Amino acid sequence: MRDPVRADALHIAGLTRLSSCDWPGKLVATVFLQGCPLACGYCHNPSLLDPRTAGVIQWEVVRELLARRRGMLDGVVFSGGEPTRQAGLAAAMREVRDLGFQVGLHTAGTYPHRFAEALPFCDWVGLDIKAPQRLYGAITGVQSSASTAAACLRLALDSKVELQVRTTVDPTVLTPGDVAELTAWLLAEGVHEHMLQEVRAEGTRPEYVERLMALAEHPLP
Ligand code: SF4
Repeated sequence: MRDPVRADALHIAGLTRLSSCDWPGKLVATVFLQGCPLACGYCHNPSLLDPRTAGVIQWEVVRELLARRRGMLDGVVFSGGEPTRQAGLAAAMREVRDLGFQVGLHTAGTYPHRFAEALPFCDWVGLDIKAPQRLYGAITGVQSSASTAAACLRLALDSKVELQVRTTVDPTVLTPGDVAELTAWLLAEGVHEHMLQEVRAEGTRPEYVERLMALAEHPLP
């Protein structure tokens, strides 16, 4: 059997030392992991997508931060990019738990096996479900992301972890009818907390900003 990948192997693209908005109701540090296999038009952090880009922060820096912030932070949120892309995620979560902090995870549900490894260490998950299944590819550029996200949703629901499902409503793809269809499907699956978010143009690629501007003139039917 191979040794589990250690937290020190993580490629960390950024660290927010104090956040009150990454996990509702909690004060957290947020660790941004490099790399994502999707290509959502509205991604406002495209520099985090390339998995070949090296990290800029060592895990040791996070360790030291937590040692200094005992009693001041509720927990750590792992975000990205797509944090489940990295094999060291579960080891990092275990360390955070062992240090006495809670663990939150932001994920688009792209790697069900890694998500399953991470779930036992998660206190809260913010899971992106981006569209009804048939429209996934139009948003993420990867049609198979529909089935992996659905698999992760099932894993999360079966695990009983505290779960918030989030949908950034991409107006270049989704009509109000599509959003209603998604909400009905999530409800039928057993989702109790579904948050809709508006797209923000800032930080997105110029071609997406152009599509948003064109949409203002010619809305979807
Ligand atoms: S899943 Fe998130 S990080 Fe990945 S491309 Fe989409 S918006 Fe960007």
